[in-house]
Amino acid sequence: MSKQADIAIVGSGPAAFFCAGALLKGGARVDLFEKLPAPHGLVRYGVAPDHLPIKRTARQFDKVSQHEGFCYLGGVEVGRDVSVSELRQAYTAVVIAIGAPEHRRLGIPGEDLAGSHDAAAFVGWYNGHPDYRDTKFDLSNETAVVVGNGNVAIDVARLLVRDPEELRETEIYPPALEALAASQVRTVHVVGRRGPVQSSITAKELYEIGILNDVQPISEPADFELDSGSRDALESFTAQEKKAFERLSGFCGARAGDGERRVLFHFLRSPVEILGQDRVEGVRLCRNRLTADCRAEATEEEETLPCGLVIRSIGYRGIPIAGAPFDDDRAVIPNEAGRVTGQPGMYAAGWVGTGPRGLIGEAKRSGSETAQSLLEDLLGLPKPEKDPWWIRNLLEERGVHPMGYPA
Ligand code: NAP
Repeated sequence: MSKQADIAIVGSGPAAFFCAGALLKGGARVDLFEKLPAPHGLVRYGVAPDHLPIKRTARQFDKVSQHEGFCYLGGVEVGRDVSVSELRQAYTAVVIAIGAPEHRRLGIPGEDLAGSHDAAAFVGWYNGHPDYRDTKFDLSNETAVVVGNGNVAIDVARLLVRDPEELRETEIYPPALEALAASQVRTVHVVGRRGPVQSSITAKELYEIGILNDVQPISEPADFELDSGSRDALESFTAQEKKAFERLSGFCGARAGDGERRVLFHFLRSPVEILGQDRVEGVRLCRNRLTADCRAEATEEEETLPCGLVIRSIGYRGIPIAGAPFDDDRAVIPNEAGRVTGQPGMYAAGWVGTGPRGLIGEAKRSGSETAQSLLEDLLGLPKPEKDPWWIRNLLEERGVHPMGYPA
């Protein structure tokens, strides 16, 4: 492979860095473009601040940044300051690794009432994300509702109830810590549209919530009367999946002690309306049943949970970037092993190519796979007409001054 190959990576999250590391090892040079000043994407702004071992993955990225041939261009938004097609003129290959930044919406009345937020905002806030760190969350009501049954939902619930003294030992954004220390929230309802067998919360996260100081997780025994589809699914579970289910069922019938905060798991319920005049006052839920193929189907039964805060945590969605194809149904850049369909020299890595699933392990797998595909293709890719200095000059002319990798 030619040592002279210059690769542009768009995005600086974990998949981007794992891809960069493998490309540099393969002898390529890498320019990494990030729209925010600071790098590391989800590791910095998505991983919960009390998950310190995962946060420390950033140290591996610091090592990548010290590699000869690596250049970080922070505060440069591809699609605004420079286009994908301009990058393609100056680099042998372009890797798109922009994640899945959009949050899915419930599409129900009241979703935009004050006090109803998507999880991206709440997670961004406690991690000090520039777009969210000034968001105000009203924590003056005793009850909050988190919609969704994934690991982001459980992160949000845990941060809402965790002892602020313990949070002080974490990497939480300090103003968020102060707000949480003054929070009146005592009860967090976590609402899943399907049953406990279909929950995506993993065993480790359920263990964590079970051992928090002065916090009692509680499940309702009635939600654990399984239909035959769920019983079959449970049979085929891996040991880890079984463990997650056992932990949820282990919370059945628990009672909170005096002064304890509570996390209440509710299954087979979907929000149909977020209630309130000027701000959130409650959530109207319908009871669901599971169809034979384990989808949620609404019944006539309804109930209301009064609350002052709703965090909607129902998954992320990829967004298109001009100059790259996009599969709108799957919300991904279509690709095979990172090779973007019909676009020689263009690659995708991480959630923009795979959809929003997994975290560090999946980012490593995807970033490495994309790098391997690219390195295999390299000899057959044409030399670009221009070079990376042309991009540097374009940015200069446009008044864009890239920031370097933080010390
Ligand atoms: P997720 O695991 O896909 O969970 C999304 C949840 O939203 C599911 O329970 C889904 O239910 C529910 N949902 C979707 N549409 C809904 C609707 N219209 N109404 C009600 N509920 C709805 O996504 P995530 O929690 O955002 O996490 C994304 C990825 O990051 C996951 O792979 C997760 O494991 C990973 N992550 C890992 C960690 C960690 O390792 N600690 C932390 C955070 C995130 P259905 O199942 O019924 O669709």
